[in-house]
Amino acid sequence: MLKTLYMKTLLDWSAYEDAGMGDAYADIPKTGGNFAKAVAVCINSKACESQNDKGVMCPSYRVTHDSHLSTGGRVRLLKAALNGELGEFPFADPVLGRAMDLCVSCKGCKRECENEVDMALIKVEYLAQLNEEEGVSLRSRLFAHTPVWLHRWPGLRRVIAWRNASKFLMMLGEKLLGISASRQLPVPAEEKLQVSKTQAIDNWDDIASSDVIPSTEGREVVLLVDTFSRHFDPDIVAAALAVLDAAGYRTLVAEPKQPGRPLCCGRTYLAQGMVAQAKAEAQRMIEALLPHAEAGRPIIGLEPSCLLSLRDEYKALGLSEGAAKVAAQALLFEEFIAKEHTAKTFRLKLKPLDQQVLVHGHCHQKAVGAMKSMRKVLKLIPGLSFDLLESSCCGMAGSFGLEAEHTAVSWEMAGQTLLPALRLAPHSLVLSNGFSCRQQIREGDGRSSLHLAQLIRDALSYE
Ligand code: SF4
Ligand code: SF4
Repeated sequence: MLKTLYMKTLLDWSAYEDAGMGDAYADIPKTGGNFAKAVAVCINSKACESQNDKGVMCPSYRVTHDSHLSTGGRVRLLKAALNGELGEFPFADPVLGRAMDLCVSCKGCKRECENEVDMALIKVEYLAQLNEEEGVSLRSRLFAHTPVWLHRWPGLRRVIAWRNASKFLMMLGEKLLGISASRQLPVPAEEKLQVSKTQAIDNWDDIASSDVIPSTEGREVVLLVDTFSRHFDPDIVAAALAVLDAAGYRTLVAEPKQPGRPLCCGRTYLAQGMVAQAKAEAQRMIEALLPHAEAGRPIIGLEPSCLLSLRDEYKALGLSEGAAKVAAQALLFEEFIAKEHTAKTFRLKLKPLDQQVLVHGHCHQKAVGAMKSMRKVLKLIPGLSFDLLESSCCGMAGSFGLEAEHTAVSWEMAGQTLLPALRLAPHSLVLSNGFSCRQQIREGDGRSSLHLAQLIRDALSYE
């Protein structure tokens, strides 16, 4: 019996309820319900197979020129699967498996395909279905639980540094876990995140009290500290706090309602198709942020894929009504500053920076059009000269580039436009707001990149 016939989807696909209905040419697969409709929004125009250096779509096609490895190619295989053409458990079909495996979930198609095929979300459902059938691999569980390991085991820093320094351990990690022996793993920072008493929220009753609601003249904001900034780049958090403070905002750092492990958006679970765990993280996040959203405080995030999951993937997780209120207040750091500047409420004294900066946007920043905000904010720094690179996906894409079978294609993606552009300007500063992009650039080019918050902090004028 074809298992997809009774496919119970793990994500909420109701947003596609009416997609293609009444259209005789919509070619909606026979099984899969609303998930099938999400797949069928592709009109087979093959724009995702154009050889074009602009935009992001589709990194895996750009490096392989294999039509199975474009967005539309994946759609064709998924349709065959949902129409019962690929056997009893079609999601395990090797050709479909390779096609989905090499999708880097960049969301390039969601923005650039004329019909907004959301292959990154489709991949989450695909992986979740595969996990139900085959179980979750040890490597997937290791990567997915990163926020938990980092919180529970401060000694992980030494273990990772030890592994990175030992050829033997790197080879062993590849053999046992499939983590590439040729890649360095990111090492957590030695220094801990410092949050002052006034920024930490240690009394939840205060948050809901009328003293705090509504927020004072719109100058109160909430900073969402993601797992990656917290554990690997706490200086980015310090820089964001310094900039917001200098601009006259009172910044509260979002904390979980129940003391314990810090908040996490659930992205690492989604990337491995672990929907139930992602939903549990998302619910904690919504519970923590809802009082702020209801108080009208902007919720500001630093890591694009983490903050933007509140506005995007959370819609497919079947969360409470509060999720929409939180999403409405969630902004990237650059979006927040650009918005305040447009409203003429952003007050910051900046000194000239005589620097040339190359800007590599995270794919998810590009997918929501946030590079416009980046441009606007960078223009606020006097004397700064900058280029927004047409660099598609850097190829790291979360843990993708660390996985042994993906390392070569990850470097091919980086080698298409990003690394050549960086090599042409060896003395420029590099700006990159994505944690995994910074890691790829560090290994591929040897330069450390700055987050926008760090660059603005460098330009703060205290005169
Ligand atoms: S995925 Fe989008 S761009 Fe590619 S063929 Fe389908 S509709 Fe066209
Ligand atoms: S999410 Fe990115 S890699 Fe995946 S199909 Fe879309 S454009 Fe291609």
